[in-house]
Amino acid sequence: MSALPGLYVHVPFCRGKCAYCDFYSEPSHALASRWVDAVLREADLYRDLFSRFDTLYLGGGTPSLLSGEDLGRLLKGLRERFSFESDTEITLEANPDDVAPERAALWRALGINRLSLGVQSSDEAMLRLLGRRHTVSQAAAAVETARRAGFSNLGLDLMWGLPGQTLAHWQDTLEWALAFSPEHLSCYELTLERGTPLQERALRGELALPPEEESRRFFVTTSRLLETRGYVHYEISNFARADTRRSRHNQKYWHHVPYLGLGPSAHSFDGRRRWWNVRSVRAYCERLEAGGTPVAGEEVPGPEERRLEALLLGFRTREGVPLHLVGESHRVRRAVDAAVADGLLELAGGRLRPTLAGWLVADRLPLLFD
Ligand code: SF4
Repeated sequence: MSALPGLYVHVPFCRGKCAYCDFYSEPSHALASRWVDAVLREADLYRDLFSRFDTLYLGGGTPSLLSGEDLGRLLKGLRERFSFESDTEITLEANPDDVAPERAALWRALGINRLSLGVQSSDEAMLRLLGRRHTVSQAAAAVETARRAGFSNLGLDLMWGLPGQTLAHWQDTLEWALAFSPEHLSCYELTLERGTPLQERALRGELALPPEEESRRFFVTTSRLLETRGYVHYEISNFARADTRRSRHNQKYWHHVPYLGLGPSAHSFDGRRRWWNVRSVRAYCERLEAGGTPVAGEEVPGPEERRLEALLLGFRTREGVPLHLVGESHRVRRAVDAAVADGLLELAGGRLRPTLAGWLVADRLPLLFD
């Protein structure tokens, strides 16, 4: 995997707010043009620290709602400030209702070569429950439009563990998605984030998520079904039709490769220090317009914190972690033996790799080696 850093741009605008979402975004894109200027000012601050990238990820928010003018200005400005490898992976997160033929053609013309489509479900009732703005037929049309525009690297985001969703319904969604042969699938379990309308409905007893035992069945079924259909389950929530179709950008996060994040609430890591920006788009723009920086906080994790984080991230990936990262003591060796005997980890080629059972308790695996 390339050790070149990745560039992330947070596009903090949406057309409305989905019922489960707690990402930072504004339900209007009236400030988009001012935000582009601010992002380019922020990029200027990092020209000495970061010079060359091989991934650019436009995430959000809803990057697909940017006008051609704003998006073009953003990409041109970034290319003037940084250099990019000739085969840079350039991803745009898109909502299906934004994928019209002219837009898709424009994205291709601007050099975007990977689309990540927020489909979530092939069930109309579930899309309404989630507060999504698109329909199932719009999602299908979006995939077809993207293909016709020449996108040969297409990822679909899907969600499981929805209130009232049965395993059979979820398998229908997977089959629906597989019919399009996407290069990448992200399958996330719905979590009820604090303060979201969906969580409030759950607190009022109007809906409930599947019990934990059912969640395990969703996870295991997803992995087995997609692996049977030729997808590599390479990260706990991510599947690629070939190793070359893994998300090059997201792998940088999981493998501690540096990345620069621009935009409100974006996070960055230079290999030693981490920092993050203010969440509000207004505060972000104002600080940069006044010649300041939008950084809201920073930290330099100590060696032990970094080790635990590397374990946490590494155990989310199929490659796992190198054995030396867990430590050498007798106590650690006994913990490794116990985790292998319990079927949570496998030891191969000097690496500790999580099994499916291990992934089910991935967040707790680093604690075995604390
Ligand atoms: S479109 Fe995405 S970022 Fe925007 S509210 Fe919905 S889930 Fe959140």
